[in-house]
Amino acid sequence: MDVRVGDILVMKKQHPCGENTFLVLRSGMDFRIRCTGCGREVMVPRAKAEKNIKSIIRKDG
Ligand SMILES: [Zn+2]
Repeated sequence: MDVRVGDILVMKKQHPCGENTFLVLRSGMDFRIRCTGCGREVMVPRAKAEKNIKSIIRKDG
């Protein structure tokens, strides 16, 4: 799966704050993502994160 810095990930499971979209801060073996609801940052292993991705929102350009 192609995930880039700056993408918004729409997740199947929502964050405890109720939001289910996350901004990608760093991609690689692990993703560093920030909840767009509460602003909390989390590190997630790539394999785990990919299973949880519903869709990716990308602003091109
Ligand atoms: Zn949150």
